[in-house]
Amino acid sequence: MTQTTGRYTADTITDQALDELYATVRRLNYRAQRAESTIAQYERAVVQWEISERGTYIPHASLRAIGRVTGTDLLGSVRHLQHFQRVEQAEAAIARVRAHLRYVLDYQGPGHSHLVPGRWDKDGSPCDHCARLAEARAALDEPKEGRP
Ligand SMILES: [Zn+2]
Repeated sequence: MTQTTGRYTADTITDQALDELYATVRRLNYRAQRAESTIAQYERAVVQWEISERGTYIPHASLRAIGRVTGTDLLGSVRHLQHFQRVEQAEAAIARVRAHLRYVLDYQGPGHSHLVPGRWDKDGSPCDHCARLAEARAALDEPKEGRP
């Protein structure tokens, strides 16, 4: 290394200094490749986002992908995802209630006043109508007694 420029020249560089320079180049290339790979992972995750005037929708898969890059379980810690899970559960419950109500509203059969609740007087077999009404009450979270 020269005193004036602080740089090696082809005439002044030692084998050891050259080895160190090659090692530095390899290390920097490795870092660049890792950085490019990480950026590509983020880009693939973010490209799934849906951005509009109304807001930004970030799919679960995108958050999972970002979580993998960062080594963090984003799905377990994001409050909004838990909210989405509750919404999905509520939608499923509403769908069940709607199906039961549709059955009740469309039912055209005879009235039911069994001697044994839920069982046909003739042979004691279960009454499908009463069973369905019991399911509907359970879906509505109503008490099973006190209904026809
Ligand atoms: Zn019945």
